[in-house]
Amino acid sequence: QCILACPTGSLSEKEEISNVWRAISDPHKIVIAQTAPSIQVTIGESFNMPIGKLVTKQLVTSLKRLGFDKVFATDVTADLTIMEEGSELVDRLVNEPEKLPLLSSCCPGWVKFAENFYPELLDHLSSTKSPHEMCGALTKTWYAKKYNIDPSKIVTVAIMPCTAKKYEASRPEMTSDGFRNVDHVLTTRELVKMIREVGIDFANLPDSEYDEPFDQFSGAGMIFGATGGVLEAAVRSAHRLITGEEMSIPDYEEARGQSGLKYGTVKIGDKTITIAIAHGTKNARIAIEDFKSGKKKFDYLEVMACPGGCVGGGGQPILANRDYKYISLSYRHNRADTLYNIDKSKIIRQSHNNPRIHQIYKEFLGKPLSDVSHKYLHTTFTPRGKYPYLDSENQKK
Ligand code: SF4
Repeated sequence: QCILACPTGSLSEKEEISNVWRAISDPHKIVIAQTAPSIQVTIGESFNMPIGKLVTKQLVTSLKRLGFDKVFATDVTADLTIMEEGSELVDRLVNEPEKLPLLSSCCPGWVKFAENFYPELLDHLSSTKSPHEMCGALTKTWYAKKYNIDPSKIVTVAIMPCTAKKYEASRPEMTSDGFRNVDHVLTTRELVKMIREVGIDFANLPDSEYDEPFDQFSGAGMIFGATGGVLEAAVRSAHRLITGEEMSIPDYEEARGQSGLKYGTVKIGDKTITIAIAHGTKNARIAIEDFKSGKKKFDYLEVMACPGGCVGGGGQPILANRDYKYISLSYRHNRADTLYNIDKSKIIRQSHNNPRIHQIYKEFLGKPLSDVSHKYLHTTFTPRGKYPYLDSENQKK
């Protein structure tokens, strides 16, 4: 019944805390954590800090104290996802209009939903891997080679907002050179358990910085955590790719807010791009049915399976001890607002201007959509039955 209710299979959640402790205590392993953008504005709530408070530097310190050897920001590869997905969008607009609309694919809950219920549209999904898979892939290839580390000794642990990421990490195609990109996924709540287990006073931790080379990210990489953020970030880079110029104002307000389904347009040079943003699979279904019936036309659709996007993810802190009225009205807004405020305060707000992105392309990938990018940063999708509880993969569970 759980599998029927949840197309991602994420309700068959498995705690991975003991596996992560085992890796940390193994002297032969190098254990590398990465944290999703949204975690930085949610985990503090579990330690009685204000809702949506930015706690990036305490988060990094807590992971170091737990014993992780390195701590990387998934935000860096969120920027990389935008480079690849934004290039796919421009390529389809120019060369393959029959493959429009481009459907975002960084949410594994939505991807599994599309595989089950809309297999005829899988060609429309962006083949770009999600940010945590890219970070894992680059850690075991480019980073391992650059720092002269045997990739078989690396254990990658992703701190993520949802259990669907556990499912995504276990997909057989999520490997690089024979190694699994992400070995373990911990939800925010699992990390909170680990922090409590060892008695760390999270709220009073000193600051630490992310480790090189996954340490610098743009405002665009940060807003990935909110519904509409992926699309807004992609528009910023598509503008540069199409016109050769930056958007005069990078903010794309039409993409923001908690409305479940939004349609809009954005003018890039002499092109007008039509967009749609849905959060929650019910709204995704409406958008897709609107497209299939010809009621709506759009070039790009962003879907996030959770209400509000990753800031409202199923693995985030549950605010049962807070004032219910206050929470139900505003917690997702508070978390998203913090992400937008950080974006606004950043000097670099576009993924294509992140110096780490330049470095990764220069040293390893070459250019967006190159053969190397396709090998390590892109994936494929599988049509599945319309009844997820009957498909062979779920029957094995
Ligand atoms: Fe996970 Fe929800 Fe974010 Fe999708 S929207 S990646 S299911 S937290």
